Amino acid sequence: MALPKPRQYTGSITKKLQLTKTVFQFFIQNQQPNPLLFTPGQYATFIIDPQTRRQYTFCSAPNPSSFELIVDVSPMGVGSRYFLERKEGDRVEFLAPFGNFTLSENPLKKIFIATGTGIAPFRSMLLNGKEISNCSLYWGLRYEDDVYWDQEFQTLAGQYTGFQYFLVLSKPSQNWQGLTGHITEHVLKNPSFIPTHVGTSAGEGENLQNSEFYLCGNNAMITEMKNRLSAKNVRNERIKIDLFY
Ligand SMILES: Cc1cc2nc3c(=O)[nH]c(=O)nc-3n(C[C@H](O)[C@H](O)[C@H](O)COP(=O)(O)OP(=O)(O)OC[C@H]3O[C@@H](n4cnc5c(N)ncnc54)[C@H](O)[C@@H]3O)c2cc1C
Repeated sequence: MALPKPRQYTGSITKKLQLTKTVFQFFIQNQQPNPLLFTPGQYATFIIDPQTRRQYTFCSAPNPSSFELIVDVSPMGVGSRYFLERKEGDRVEFLAPFGNFTLSENPLKKIFIATGTGIAPFRSMLLNGKEISNCSLYWGLRYEDDVYWDQEFQTLAGQYTGFQYFLVLSKPSQNWQGLTGHITEHVLKNPSFIPTHVGTSAGEGENLQNSEFYLCGNNAMITEMKNRLSAKNVRNERIKIDLFY
């Protein structure tokens, strides 16, 4: 399916929610008569000033008149400062939609793997509902204080038996009862990802038959996950990547 061509839009911030110390959720109304068309996994390029643009991924299900974003302001560069200063009622200029980190239409199980605000495209995909009955979400954060939307994903996992959700903290306190460490470990521990057929000669192995992997977030996680999946004979075309930084 052809993705729509990018256009310029003006939006109005209707709500700004602080989710953690550094992550803000923005609710933005499209002020343009043109409907805002995007596919889950795509992003908008915000015009910060005439020389500066920054990308942010839609984290809500497609809707022609409004959308949501999450912005982690911890880098504190121009993009972070711009969104930190924005308040309800402010206007924003952006171009959209961009990107091809979108769901493939095939019967493969979708494995979503995110760090930090890399969760944005997956929330959009899940809320859109298309693959929710055949997917797993692994989300890596550092501390308990970094967690948001946990209840929302738990509720979805309770509603859809085909959707599994795993939150993994790399630096939790001693009180944390959930999963710890790196998400890469937990993805590979999942018994359903063991190759269904192992080749007969050394180094030859059948690829994982039933899964397609979507990785979004920081470079360290993406590189490690990709290398480890490749080492398990997952073919490159079964690994989709959206690198935030
Ligand atoms: C396709 C795409 C989609 C993106 N979607 C989102 C999104 O939905 N939400 C979001 O918060 N960001 C998203 N980003 C990152 C965003 O575009 C900016 O790079 C980020 O906000 C930093 O911009 P800045 O101007 O504040 O800092 P800059 O001055 O541009 O960067 C400062 C440094 O911070 C690093 N950095 C960037 N992001 C982070 C981070 N989260 N944590 C730690 N270091 C970081 C950069 O690599 C750089 O070294 C996306 C990036 C891309 C390419």
